[in-house]
Amino acid sequence: MKILAYGIREDEKPFVKEWEQENPEVDVEITDQLLDDETVAMAKGFDGVVVYQQKPYTDTVFEKLDSYGIHNVSLRNVGVDNMNPATVKKYGFKVTNVPVYSPAAIAEFSVTQLMNLLRRTKEYFHKFERGDFRWAPQISQELNQQTVGVIGTGHIGRVAIDIYKGFGAKVIAYDVYHNPELEKEGLYVDTLDELYAKATVVTLHIPLFPSTEHMLNKEAFDKMRDGVFIVNASRGPLIDEQALIDALDSGKVAGAALDVLEDETKVFNHNMVGKNMTYPEFWNLNSRENVLISPHTAFYTNIAVQNMVKFSLSANKDLIETGTSDKLVKFD
Ligand code: NAD
Repeated sequence: MKILAYGIREDEKPFVKEWEQENPEVDVEITDQLLDDETVAMAKGFDGVVVYQQKPYTDTVFEKLDSYGIHNVSLRNVGVDNMNPATVKKYGFKVTNVPVYSPAAIAEFSVTQLMNLLRRTKEYFHKFERGDFRWAPQISQELNQQTVGVIGTGHIGRVAIDIYKGFGAKVIAYDVYHNPELEKEGLYVDTLDELYAKATVVTLHIPLFPSTEHMLNKEAFDKMRDGVFIVNASRGPLIDEQALIDALDSGKVAGAALDVLEDETKVFNHNMVGKNMTYPEFWNLNSRENVLISPHTAFYTNIAVQNMVKFSLSANKDLIETGTSDKLVKFD
């Protein structure tokens, strides 16, 4: 059995090697190139392909894979939005993804960034760079004194809740679905308004749907406590960035940690050194001492990358061997 893995980065290589040692009957070849109309020819003679890219998977890619007798694609990431479901169906492809690779990676990063906000580390870093080693006046806040409002208690939100509880913070939560364990602990509030009224920190762990886009808008910020901290390591468009800027200006929001932005594909995962970039909200937010922006990096740990590589290879092997996998994506 032969699998071709496209777009393999340096940090993924050791995990491909490990997986091959665990599955000696499979021959895995790798390329750093992404799967497109030109590189698809490399897949000739293989039984399956493993991929990870934001770049669209064109209809030609599926047509050519079909002509090589390949009818499976295994993603090392979650999103299938860069694939046309009609084309996937037309050529009878089976697609797998890795929906859960390390909830702890994202949860731990969210907590880390909140602590950086509370302890004002960006300000201290800049003072240090200037040679100013005084501690005042950047007085900090303690995590154990916060009421953390967790919106979304799925895989990531639940791990975040455990960590916050470990630090002694009070946790309240809102979700359209109630996890029975958390329900028993009495963590849920009935409405978002209640969470906004009580929380000193609001952290987002929900998916982006049309119904959740701009969930944190002017109206939502107005309902929050003065001096609230905002954490978003979920999806950028959950927050109306202009409304956040206004809330930071008024002092309603004391600080924000953003691992995701509304228009992040313009910026993140590109080397922008020496390049111009028109994104006024980004520059506004990034210039603030009380806003921490990271380039959608919450997921990026050794465990997460290992799982993305190994789970996708195993899913592709399952598709080739059995025609199905527990990681099959259902296209409606
Ligand atoms: P999950 O599906 O396990 O949990 C999502 C939770 O949100 C569910 O419990 C669901 O009931 C709840 N929910 C859905 N709609 C809601 C609404 N309107 N109001 C309240 N709750 C609602 O997902 P997860 O694995 O915990 O991931 C959460 C999000 O984290 C993902 O959707 C993704 O956007 C983001 N994410 C970010 C990174 C990163 O690197 N920054 C990495 C992975 C995932």
